[in-house]
Amino acid sequence: MNEIPYKIYLEEHEMPKQWYNVRADMKKKPAPILNPVTKEPITLEELSAIFCTELAKQELDDTTAYFDIPEEIRNFYKMYRPSPLVRAYCLEKKLGTPAHIYYKFEGNNTSGSHKLNSAIAQAYYAKQQGLKGVTTETGAGQWGTALSMACSYFDLDCQVYMVKCSYEQKPFRREVMRTYGAQVTPSPSMNTNVGRKINEEFPGTTGSLGCAISEAVEAAGNQEGYRYVLGSVLTQVLLHQSVIGLETKAALDKYGVKADMVIGCAGGGSNLGGLISPFAGEMLRGEAEYALIAVEPSSCPSLTRGKYAYDYCDTGKVCPLSKMYTLGSGYIPAASHAGGLRYHGMSSVVSELYDQGLMSARSVKQTEVFKAAQEFARIEGILPAPESSHAIKVAIDEAMKCKETGEAKNIVFGLTGTGYFDMFAYQRYNDGEMNDYVPTEEEIAKALAKLPEVE
Ligand SMILES: *Cc1c(COP(=O)(O)O)cnc(C)c1O
Repeated sequence: MNEIPYKIYLEEHEMPKQWYNVRADMKKKPAPILNPVTKEPITLEELSAIFCTELAKQELDDTTAYFDIPEEIRNFYKMYRPSPLVRAYCLEKKLGTPAHIYYKFEGNNTSGSHKLNSAIAQAYYAKQQGLKGVTTETGAGQWGTALSMACSYFDLDCQVYMVKCSYEQKPFRREVMRTYGAQVTPSPSMNTNVGRKINEEFPGTTGSLGCAISEAVEAAGNQEGYRYVLGSVLTQVLLHQSVIGLETKAALDKYGVKADMVIGCAGGGSNLGGLISPFAGEMLRGEAEYALIAVEPSSCPSLTRGKYAYDYCDTGKVCPLSKMYTLGSGYIPAASHAGGLRYHGMSSVVSELYDQGLMSARSVKQTEVFKAAQEFARIEGILPAPESSHAIKVAIDEAMKCKETGEAKNIVFGLTGTGYFDMFAYQRYNDGEMNDYVPTEEEIAKALAKLPEVE
Protein backbone atom coordinates (compact mmCIF):
# COMPACT_ATOMS: atom_id res chain seq x y z
CA MET A 1 0.00 0.00 0.00
CA ASN A 2 1.23 3.51 -0.81
CA GLU A 3 2.02 5.81 2.04
CA ILE A 4 -0.95 8.07 2.71
CA PRO A 5 -0.31 11.76 1.97
CA TYR A 6 -1.64 14.56 4.14
CA LYS A 7 -4.05 15.51 1.40
CA ILE A 8 -5.60 12.95 -0.89
CA TYR A 9 -6.74 14.61 -4.09
CA LEU A 10 -8.44 12.83 -6.90
CA GLU A 11 -7.41 13.64 -10.45
CA GLU A 12 -10.01 15.50 -12.48
CA HIS A 13 -10.80 12.36 -14.47
CA GLU A 14 -11.40 10.43 -11.24
CA MET A 15 -14.19 12.78 -10.14
CA PRO A 16 -17.71 11.31 -10.04
CA LYS A 17 -19.66 11.68 -13.27
CA GLN A 18 -22.91 10.60 -11.66
CA TRP A 19 -24.71 11.28 -8.41
CA TYR A 20 -25.82 8.29 -6.37
CA ASN A 21 -29.41 7.93 -5.15
CA VAL A 22 -29.25 5.68 -2.07
CA ARG A 23 -33.03 5.24 -2.09
CA ALA A 24 -32.63 2.91 -5.07
CA ASP A 25 -30.87 0.37 -2.82
CA MET A 26 -33.29 0.66 0.08
CA LYS A 27 -35.77 -2.21 0.25
CA LYS A 28 -38.02 -0.21 2.51
CA LYS A 29 -38.14 3.27 0.93
CA PRO A 30 -38.58 6.59 2.71
CA ALA A 31 -42.30 7.37 2.99
CA PRO A 32 -43.67 9.51 0.13
CA ILE A 33 -44.05 13.25 0.63
CA LEU A 34 -47.67 14.36 0.83
CA ASN A 35 -49.70 17.24 -0.50
CA PRO A 36 -50.25 19.42 2.64
CA VAL A 37 -53.90 19.96 1.80
CA THR A 38 -55.14 16.58 0.54
CA LYS A 39 -52.55 14.55 2.49
CA GLU A 40 -52.23 12.26 -0.55
CA PRO A 41 -48.81 11.46 -2.06
CA ILE A 42 -47.82 14.50 -4.06
CA THR A 43 -47.80 14.20 -7.86
CA LEU A 44 -45.07 15.34 -10.21
CA GLU A 45 -47.43 17.97 -11.56
CA GLU A 46 -48.17 19.42 -8.12
CA LEU A 47 -44.52 19.38 -7.17
CA SER A 48 -43.51 21.04 -10.44
CA ALA A 49 -45.60 24.05 -9.48
CA ILE A 50 -43.17 24.67 -6.60
CA PHE A 51 -39.85 23.27 -7.85
CA CYS A 52 -38.15 23.09 -11.24
CA THR A 53 -39.54 20.10 -13.12
CA GLU A 54 -36.26 18.20 -13.38
CA LEU A 55 -35.66 18.65 -9.64
CA ALA A 56 -39.21 17.53 -8.87
CA LYS A 57 -38.49 14.37 -10.89
CA GLN A 58 -35.34 13.72 -8.90
CA GLU A 59 -37.27 14.32 -5.70
CA LEU A 60 -39.83 11.63 -6.50
CA ASP A 61 -37.49 9.05 -8.05
CA ASP A 62 -36.59 6.34 -5.56
CA THR A 63 -35.56 3.65 -8.06
CA THR A 64 -32.88 5.18 -10.32
CA ALA A 65 -29.53 4.55 -8.62
CA TYR A 66 -27.35 6.86 -10.71
CA PHE A 67 -28.08 10.24 -12.29
CA ASP A 68 -25.63 11.70 -14.80
CA ILE A 69 -24.16 14.98 -13.60
CA PRO A 70 -24.65 17.37 -16.53
CA GLU A 71 -21.39 18.52 -18.06
CA GLU A 72 -21.94 22.19 -17.18
CA ILE A 73 -22.30 21.27 -13.52
CA ARG A 74 -19.22 19.04 -13.67
CA ASN A 75 -17.28 21.93 -15.15
CA PHE A 76 -18.39 24.24 -12.36
CA TYR A 77 -17.48 21.55 -9.81
CA LYS A 78 -13.98 21.45 -11.29
CA MET A 79 -13.38 25.05 -10.15
CA TYR A 80 -13.48 23.99 -6.50
CA ARG A 81 -13.59 20.19 -6.53
CA PRO A 82 -12.47 17.55 -5.91
CA SER A 83 -12.34 18.72 -2.31
CA PRO A 84 -9.42 17.31 -0.36
CA LEU A 85 -9.67 14.34 1.95
CA VAL A 86 -7.16 15.22 4.63
CA ARG A 87 -5.38 12.74 6.86
CA ALA A 88 -5.31 14.50 10.23
CA TYR A 89 -1.80 13.37 11.11
CA CYS A 90 -1.22 16.41 13.35
CA LEU A 91 -4.44 15.90 15.30
CA GLU A 92 -3.72 12.17 15.70
CA LYS A 93 -0.30 12.96 17.12
CA LYS A 94 -1.64 15.60 19.47
CA LEU A 95 -4.31 13.22 20.76
CA GLY A 96 -1.82 10.35 20.98
CA THR A 97 -4.34 8.05 19.37
CA PRO A 98 -3.61 4.96 17.28
CA ALA A 99 -6.72 5.82 15.24
CA HIS A 100 -6.35 7.16 11.71
CA ILE A 101 -8.46 10.25 11.25
CA TYR A 102 -9.55 11.61 7.87
CA TYR A 103 -11.73 14.59 7.08
CA LYS A 104 -13.40 15.63 3.87
CA PHE A 105 -13.10 19.41 3.68
CA GLU A 106 -15.92 21.23 1.90
CA GLY A 107 -14.96 24.78 2.92
CA ASN A 108 -12.68 25.50 -0.05
CA ASN A 109 -15.05 27.75 -1.96
CA THR A 110 -16.15 31.34 -1.38
CA SER A 111 -19.51 30.37 0.07
CA GLY A 112 -17.52 28.41 2.64
CA SER A 113 -19.55 25.21 2.76
CA HIS A 114 -20.82 22.12 0.96
CA LYS A 115 -24.05 23.92 0.02
CA LEU A 116 -22.62 25.05 -3.31
CA ASN A 117 -22.72 21.41 -4.53
CA SER A 118 -26.51 21.51 -4.65
CA ALA A 119 -26.92 25.25 -5.34
CA ILE A 120 -25.15 24.95 -8.68
CA ALA A 121 -27.27 21.94 -9.65
CA GLN A 122 -30.52 23.68 -8.73
CA ALA A 123 -29.55 26.86 -10.58
CA TYR A 124 -28.58 24.79 -13.63
CA TYR A 125 -31.97 23.07 -13.85
CA ALA A 126 -33.76 26.39 -13.34
CA LYS A 127 -31.80 27.87 -16.24
CA GLN A 128 -32.48 24.82 -18.44
CA GLN A 129 -36.18 25.29 -17.81
CA GLY A 130 -35.94 28.88 -19.02
CA LEU A 131 -36.87 30.42 -15.68
CA LYS A 132 -36.14 34.04 -14.81
CA GLY A 133 -35.13 33.36 -11.26
CA VAL A 134 -35.50 31.50 -8.00
CA THR A 135 -36.51 32.33 -4.44
CA THR A 136 -35.22 30.80 -1.25
CA GLU A 137 -34.73 31.30 2.46
CA THR A 138 -31.53 31.36 4.42
CA GLY A 139 -30.98 31.05 8.14
CA ALA A 140 -27.34 31.33 9.02
CA GLY A 141 -26.61 32.58 5.51
CA GLN A 142 -24.50 29.80 4.00
CA TRP A 143 -27.20 28.53 1.69
CA GLY A 144 -28.15 32.00 0.47
CA THR A 145 -24.49 32.72 -0.24
CA ALA A 146 -24.03 29.49 -2.17
CA LEU A 147 -27.20 30.05 -4.16
CA SER A 148 -26.30 33.64 -5.03
CA MET A 149 -22.96 32.40 -6.40
CA ALA A 150 -24.69 29.70 -8.45
CA CYS A 151 -27.34 32.09 -9.79
CA SER A 152 -24.84 34.72 -10.83
CA TYR A 153 -22.92 32.04 -12.74
CA PHE A 154 -26.04 31.16 -14.74
CA ASP A 155 -27.35 34.74 -14.85
CA LEU A 156 -30.53 34.01 -12.91
CA ASP A 157 -32.34 36.36 -10.56
CA CYS A 158 -31.94 35.29 -6.93
CA GLN A 159 -34.28 36.43 -4.14
CA VAL A 160 -33.30 35.44 -0.63
CA TYR A 161 -35.50 35.69 2.45
CA MET A 162 -33.05 35.86 5.30
CA VAL A 163 -34.18 35.22 8.87
CA LYS A 164 -34.28 38.72 10.37
CA CYS A 165 -32.00 38.05 13.33
CA SER A 166 -29.21 36.77 11.08
CA TYR A 167 -29.85 39.58 8.59
CA GLU A 168 -29.02 41.95 11.42
CA GLN A 169 -26.31 39.86 13.12
CA LYS A 170 -24.48 38.78 9.98
CA PRO A 171 -24.31 41.86 7.77
CA PHE A 172 -21.24 40.51 5.98
CA ARG A 173 -23.02 37.37 4.81
CA ARG A 174 -25.71 39.63 3.43
CA GLU A 175 -23.13 41.71 1.58
CA VAL A 176 -21.51 38.62 0.03
CA MET A 177 -24.93 37.68 -1.35
CA ARG A 178 -25.52 41.20 -2.67
CA THR A 179 -22.06 41.23 -4.23
CA TYR A 180 -23.13 38.17 -6.23
CA GLY A 181 -26.28 40.04 -7.28
CA ALA A 182 -28.89 38.54 -4.96
CA GLN A 183 -31.75 40.54 -3.53
CA VAL A 184 -31.83 39.93 0.23
CA THR A 185 -34.99 40.61 2.28
CA PRO A 186 -35.23 40.26 6.05
CA SER A 187 -37.96 37.79 7.03
CA PRO A 188 -40.71 38.14 8.12
CA SER A 189 -41.17 40.89 5.54
CA MET A 190 -44.15 42.87 4.31
CA ASN A 191 -43.79 41.41 0.77
CA THR A 192 -45.89 38.31 1.37
CA ASN A 193 -49.19 37.39 3.03
CA VAL A 194 -47.42 34.98 5.38
CA GLY A 195 -44.89 37.65 6.35
CA ARG A 196 -47.52 40.32 6.95
CA LYS A 197 -49.58 37.89 9.02
CA ILE A 198 -46.65 36.88 11.19
CA ASN A 199 -45.55 40.50 11.65
CA GLU A 200 -49.05 41.38 12.76
CA GLU A 201 -49.35 38.43 15.16
CA PHE A 202 -45.86 38.77 16.60
CA PRO A 203 -44.76 42.40 16.31
CA GLY A 204 -41.00 42.78 16.51
CA THR A 205 -40.34 39.07 15.83
CA THR A 206 -36.84 38.26 14.60
CA GLY A 207 -38.12 35.44 12.41
CA SER A 208 -37.43 31.75 11.98
CA LEU A 209 -36.35 29.39 9.24
CA GLY A 210 -39.81 27.85 8.96
CA CYS A 211 -41.34 31.28 8.40
CA ALA A 212 -38.73 32.35 5.83
CA ILE A 213 -39.42 29.14 3.87
CA SER A 214 -43.14 29.96 3.71
CA GLU A 215 -42.35 33.48 2.49
CA ALA A 216 -39.98 32.26 -0.21
CA VAL A 217 -42.50 29.67 -1.46
CA GLU A 218 -45.22 32.30 -1.62
CA ALA A 219 -42.94 34.77 -3.42
CA ALA A 220 -42.09 32.18 -6.09
CA GLY A 221 -45.77 31.42 -6.62
CA ASN A 222 -46.57 35.11 -7.11
CA GLN A 223 -44.05 35.71 -9.87
CA GLU A 224 -44.14 34.41 -13.41
CA GLY A 225 -41.02 32.40 -14.29
CA TYR A 226 -39.88 31.78 -10.72
CA ARG A 227 -39.53 28.61 -8.67
CA TYR A 228 -38.57 27.95 -5.09
CA VAL A 229 -35.33 26.17 -4.17
CA LEU A 230 -34.23 24.69 -0.85
CA GLY A 231 -30.73 23.97 0.44
CA SER A 232 -31.25 20.91 2.63
CA VAL A 233 -33.76 18.28 3.82
CA LEU A 234 -35.05 17.33 0.34
CA THR A 235 -34.00 14.08 -1.31
CA GLN A 236 -32.86 16.00 -4.43
CA VAL A 237 -30.37 17.90 -2.25
CA LEU A 238 -29.07 14.66 -0.75
CA LEU A 239 -28.65 13.32 -4.27
CA HIS A 240 -26.46 16.30 -5.29
CA GLN A 241 -24.50 16.09 -2.04
CA SER A 242 -23.64 12.44 -2.76
CA VAL A 243 -20.70 13.93 -4.64
CA ILE A 244 -19.08 14.34 -1.19
CA GLY A 245 -19.43 10.67 -0.31
CA LEU A 246 -18.49 9.43 -3.79
CA GLU A 247 -15.27 11.45 -3.79
CA THR A 248 -14.48 10.33 -0.25
CA LYS A 249 -15.02 6.68 -1.14
CA ALA A 250 -12.96 6.97 -4.33
CA ALA A 251 -10.07 8.64 -2.46
CA LEU A 252 -10.08 5.99 0.29
CA ASP A 253 -10.28 3.19 -2.28
CA LYS A 254 -7.33 4.70 -4.14
CA TYR A 255 -5.20 4.11 -1.07
CA GLY A 256 -6.81 0.85 -0.02
CA VAL A 257 -8.25 2.36 3.16
CA LYS A 258 -11.45 0.86 4.55
CA ALA A 259 -13.35 3.29 6.77
CA ASP A 260 -14.59 1.89 10.08
CA MET A 261 -16.63 4.91 10.97
CA VAL A 262 -18.17 7.78 9.01
CA ILE A 263 -19.31 10.80 10.99
CA GLY A 264 -21.23 13.89 9.91
CA CYS A 265 -23.13 16.76 11.48
CA ALA A 266 -26.86 16.77 10.86
CA GLY A 267 -29.09 19.81 10.42
CA GLY A 268 -31.51 18.94 7.65
CA GLY A 269 -29.34 15.93 6.83
CA SER A 270 -27.96 16.85 3.39
CA ASN A 271 -24.20 16.79 3.97
CA LEU A 272 -24.48 13.76 6.21
CA GLY A 273 -26.77 11.96 3.78
CA GLY A 274 -24.46 12.80 0.89
CA LEU A 275 -21.36 11.71 2.76
CA ILE A 276 -22.74 8.40 3.96
CA SER A 277 -24.77 7.48 0.85
CA PRO A 278 -22.16 5.29 -0.90
CA PHE A 279 -21.25 3.64 2.41
CA ALA A 280 -24.89 3.03 3.31
CA GLY A 281 -25.40 1.67 -0.21
CA GLU A 282 -22.75 -0.99 0.40
CA MET A 283 -24.40 -1.87 3.70
CA LEU A 284 -27.82 -2.11 2.06
CA ARG A 285 -26.41 -4.40 -0.63
CA GLY A 286 -24.72 -6.54 2.03
CA GLU A 287 -21.21 -5.74 0.77
CA ALA A 288 -19.66 -4.08 3.82
CA GLU A 289 -20.29 -2.82 7.35
CA TYR A 290 -19.63 0.68 8.66
CA ALA A 291 -20.54 2.62 11.77
CA LEU A 292 -22.37 5.68 10.41
CA ILE A 293 -22.92 8.44 12.97
CA ALA A 294 -25.08 11.58 12.83
CA VAL A 295 -24.18 14.37 15.24
CA GLU A 296 -26.76 16.97 16.19
CA PRO A 297 -26.88 19.80 18.74
CA SER A 298 -28.51 18.92 22.06
CA SER A 299 -30.54 22.13 21.64
CA CYS A 300 -32.22 20.73 18.50
CA PRO A 301 -32.17 16.93 18.89
CA SER A 302 -34.52 15.73 16.16
CA LEU A 303 -33.00 12.24 15.71
CA THR A 304 -32.15 11.53 19.34
CA ARG A 305 -35.30 12.92 20.96
CA GLY A 306 -37.80 13.56 18.19
CA LYS A 307 -40.59 11.42 16.82
CA TYR A 308 -40.72 9.59 13.48
CA ALA A 309 -43.89 10.98 11.97
CA TYR A 310 -45.33 13.06 9.15
CA ASP A 311 -44.80 16.74 9.78
CA TYR A 312 -44.83 20.11 8.06
CA CYS A 313 -41.51 21.34 6.72
CA ASP A 314 -42.37 25.02 7.31
CA THR A 315 -44.34 27.25 9.68
CA GLY A 316 -46.80 28.37 7.01
CA LYS A 317 -47.63 24.72 6.14
CA VAL A 318 -47.34 25.32 2.40
CA CYS A 319 -44.55 22.79 1.69
CA PRO A 320 -45.22 19.06 1.25
CA LEU A 321 -45.56 16.95 4.40
CA SER A 322 -42.62 14.68 5.01
CA LYS A 323 -42.26 11.63 7.24
CA MET A 324 -39.18 12.33 9.27
CA TYR A 325 -37.68 12.50 12.72
CA THR A 326 -39.09 15.78 13.95
CA LEU A 327 -39.47 17.96 17.01
CA GLY A 328 -42.63 19.48 15.54
CA SER A 329 -42.77 22.36 13.06
CA GLY A 330 -43.68 24.70 15.92
CA TYR A 331 -40.48 23.87 17.81
CA ILE A 332 -38.28 26.96 18.03
CA PRO A 333 -34.80 25.85 19.03
CA ALA A 334 -32.84 27.99 21.47
CA ALA A 335 -30.56 30.54 19.82
CA SER A 336 -27.55 28.28 19.43
CA HIS A 337 -24.55 29.35 17.39
CA ALA A 338 -24.79 26.51 14.90
CA GLY A 339 -27.49 28.20 12.80
CA GLY A 340 -27.29 25.54 10.10
CA LEU A 341 -28.36 22.85 12.54
CA ARG A 342 -31.44 24.62 13.90
CA TYR A 343 -34.09 22.81 11.91
CA HIS A 344 -36.98 20.95 13.56
CA GLY A 345 -36.95 18.00 11.14
CA MET A 346 -34.56 15.72 9.27
CA SER A 347 -34.24 14.43 5.71
CA SER A 348 -36.64 11.56 5.05
CA VAL A 349 -33.77 9.42 3.74
CA VAL A 350 -31.57 9.93 6.80
CA SER A 351 -34.65 9.38 9.00
CA GLU A 352 -35.47 6.08 7.31
CA LEU A 353 -31.86 4.82 7.42
CA TYR A 354 -31.78 5.70 11.10
CA ASP A 355 -35.09 4.00 11.73
CA GLN A 356 -33.80 0.85 10.00
CA GLY A 357 -30.80 0.84 12.34
CA LEU A 358 -28.26 1.47 9.58
CA MET A 359 -26.89 4.47 11.41
CA SER A 360 -26.75 5.90 14.90
CA ALA A 361 -27.08 9.43 16.26
CA ARG A 362 -25.63 11.47 19.12
CA SER A 363 -26.35 14.90 20.45
CA VAL A 364 -23.64 17.17 21.80
CA LYS A 365 -23.61 20.46 23.72
CA GLN A 366 -22.32 23.63 22.13
CA THR A 367 -19.58 24.44 24.66
CA GLU A 368 -17.99 21.02 24.14
CA VAL A 369 -18.37 21.54 20.39
CA PHE A 370 -16.48 24.84 20.53
CA LYS A 371 -13.80 23.26 22.69
CA ALA A 372 -13.28 20.64 19.98
CA ALA A 373 -13.40 23.36 17.30
CA GLN A 374 -10.66 25.31 19.02
CA GLU A 375 -8.50 22.25 19.52
CA PHE A 376 -8.91 21.35 15.86
CA ALA A 377 -8.19 24.90 14.64
CA ARG A 378 -5.02 25.08 16.68
CA ILE A 379 -3.54 21.86 15.38
CA GLU A 380 -5.01 21.40 11.88
CA GLY A 381 -5.08 25.08 10.96
CA ILE A 382 -8.60 25.26 9.56
CA LEU A 383 -11.08 27.45 11.44
CA PRO A 384 -14.16 25.22 11.35
CA ALA A 385 -17.82 26.27 11.12
CA PRO A 386 -19.74 25.63 14.37
CA GLU A 387 -21.95 23.15 12.50
CA SER A 388 -18.98 21.15 11.22
CA SER A 389 -17.45 21.16 14.69
CA HIS A 390 -20.19 18.83 15.89
CA ALA A 391 -18.60 16.13 13.75
CA ILE A 392 -15.11 17.09 14.98
CA LYS A 393 -16.27 16.64 18.57
CA VAL A 394 -17.45 13.06 18.00
CA ALA A 395 -14.43 12.18 15.83
CA ILE A 396 -12.16 13.25 18.69
CA ASP A 397 -14.27 11.30 21.21
CA GLU A 398 -13.96 8.18 19.06
CA ALA A 399 -10.22 8.68 18.59
CA MET A 400 -9.82 8.93 22.36
CA LYS A 401 -11.73 5.66 22.79
CA CYS A 402 -9.23 4.06 20.40
CA LYS A 403 -6.46 5.37 22.61
CA GLU A 404 -7.91 3.38 25.51
CA THR A 405 -8.48 0.21 23.56
CA GLY A 406 -5.39 0.49 21.36
CA GLU A 407 -7.44 0.00 18.18
CA ALA A 408 -6.22 1.68 14.99
CA LYS A 409 -9.65 2.43 13.57
CA ASN A 410 -10.15 4.50 10.43
CA ILE A 411 -12.34 7.43 11.39
CA VAL A 412 -13.72 9.58 8.56
CA PHE A 413 -15.67 12.74 9.18
CA GLY A 414 -17.20 15.53 7.12
CA LEU A 415 -15.77 19.00 7.70
CA THR A 416 -18.58 20.91 6.02
CA GLY A 417 -17.26 24.45 6.16
CA THR A 418 -15.31 27.34 7.59
CA GLY A 419 -16.33 29.60 10.46
CA TYR A 420 -15.17 33.07 9.39
CA PHE A 421 -18.68 34.46 9.62
CA ASP A 422 -19.20 32.94 13.05
CA MET A 423 -16.69 34.99 14.98
CA PHE A 424 -19.40 36.35 17.23
CA ALA A 425 -19.95 32.78 18.42
CA TYR A 426 -16.23 32.22 18.87
CA GLN A 427 -16.08 35.50 20.79
CA ARG A 428 -18.77 34.24 23.17
CA TYR A 429 -16.83 31.06 23.67
CA ASN A 430 -13.50 32.86 24.18
CA ASP A 431 -15.12 35.20 26.71
CA GLY A 432 -16.57 32.25 28.62
CA GLU A 433 -20.08 33.49 27.94
CA MET A 434 -21.41 30.57 25.97
CA ASN A 435 -23.97 28.34 27.62
CA ASP A 436 -25.65 25.07 26.79
CA TYR A 437 -29.31 24.71 26.26
CA VAL A 438 -31.05 21.38 26.49
CA PRO A 439 -34.84 21.43 26.03
CA THR A 440 -36.98 19.82 28.71
CA GLU A 441 -39.23 16.82 28.04
CA GLU A 442 -42.24 19.15 28.43
CA GLU A 443 -41.02 21.57 25.78
CA ILE A 444 -40.52 18.77 23.29
CA ALA A 445 -43.83 17.11 24.15
CA LYS A 446 -45.62 20.42 23.66
CA ALA A 447 -44.28 20.89 20.13
CA LEU A 448 -44.89 17.23 19.25
CA ALA A 449 -48.50 17.48 20.37
CA LYS A 450 -49.16 19.66 17.32
CA LEU A 451 -48.08 17.15 14.70
CA PRO A 452 -50.58 16.88 11.84
CA GLU A 453 -53.00 13.96 11.70
CA VAL A 454 -52.04 11.56 8.91
CA GLU A 455 -53.25 7.98 8.89
C1 LIG B 1 -26.07 24.16 6.37
C2 LIG B 1 -24.86 23.60 6.99
C3 LIG B 1 -24.89 22.38 7.69
C4 LIG B 1 -26.13 21.61 7.96
O1 LIG B 1 -26.94 21.30 6.88
P1 LIG B 1 -27.19 19.80 6.40
O2 LIG B 1 -28.25 19.89 5.39
O3 LIG B 1 -27.58 19.01 7.61
O4 LIG B 1 -25.92 19.34 5.83
C5 LIG B 1 -23.70 21.89 8.18
N1 LIG B 1 -22.55 22.56 8.03
C6 LIG B 1 -22.48 23.73 7.38
C7 LIG B 1 -21.17 24.43 7.26
C8 LIG B 1 -23.63 24.29 6.83
O5 LIG B 1 -23.57 25.44 6.18
